[in-house]
Amino acid sequence: MSEIDNEMRRLDKKSNVFALIGNPVKYSLSPIIHNKLFYKHDIKATYITLEVEDLERSIQDMRMLDIKGFNVTMPYKDGIAKYLDEVAEGGEKIGSLNTVVNEDGEFIGHNTDGFGAREALRRFTDIEGKDILILGAGGAAKAIVYELSKYGEVTVLNRTVEKAKKLERLGAEGKELNEHNLEREMRGSDILINATSVGMNEEESLVPSGFLRSRLTVFDIVYHPIETKLLRDAREKGCLVIDGLWMLIYQGLKSFKIWTGIRADPDYMRKVALRRLKDV
Ligand code: NAP
Repeated sequence: MSEIDNEMRRLDKKSNVFALIGNPVKYSLSPIIHNKLFYKHDIKATYITLEVEDLERSIQDMRMLDIKGFNVTMPYKDGIAKYLDEVAEGGEKIGSLNTVVNEDGEFIGHNTDGFGAREALRRFTDIEGKDILILGAGGAAKAIVYELSKYGEVTVLNRTVEKAKKLERLGAEGKELNEHNLEREMRGSDILINATSVGMNEEESLVPSGFLRSRLTVFDIVYHPIETKLLRDAREKGCLVIDGLWMLIYQGLKSFKIWTGIRADPDYMRKVALRRLKDV
């Protein structure tokens, strides 16, 4: 009997249901990771995906079905707060939520992306007092800026400069992403983070390889492909490189902790995710 058969056999009518809502949801790694964790920790629960068209109605349905928790992905991370009962510390300021827990019928929203990025970095390097340069000012960048500005000096470069400036309220300095600013800012940085979607195409990078120096830590939050062109170039220059799968793992670990109180093993989660990525 396969492991999946075993997972299904453990469920009964009292089992809890968790979900991922978004549109699309079918490429997500979250279902395989959370279902494996429920199995590993002997928790009678399952994690399903819900491709949502009408957010308000779907939240009502989830309340009726007593769904115990869910993750939120594109395009609903920024708009979900108004349908919840409470938003946990930080979520309001970031303006974007990716995790909801059902606490005695109350839906409480969290953002675990900033934690995910912080723990991915801290696994490999010290972040205290560091100069951190972030490329991008979208949903993920907002959460990362909020979290990392507690530890170091954060500068944001973004193609749309107004969005970079908006992140100044979260503790960063915001500037336009152009070659001049990039070269100048990279000279004074200890850590470079790509928080744009550039890199999902394997041959694209926003950073000319000549700007990379071996003392720089380079973290790309894009996780598909795992080794983006930026990370490949950085590795060749001798930089410490961190891939986006680590962030995905740690943000998922935090969601699982919020739902179950259990701190899962990140190495196990990464093994599960890598196995799945090989199949896609
Ligand atoms: P988003 O809100 O759509 O933001 C996209 C960002 O990329 C914006 O800053 C945008 O700049 C910039 N951008 C896009 N194309 C660009 C280009 N050609 N040149 C320069 N800048 C460009 O997306 P998001 O939710 O923040 O996600 C960003 C990436 O992070 C995605 O690839 C996503 O899969 C990944 N992600 C990973 C994790 C993880 O756990 N590893 C978590 C969340 C997201 P403008 O503002 O100028 O448009």
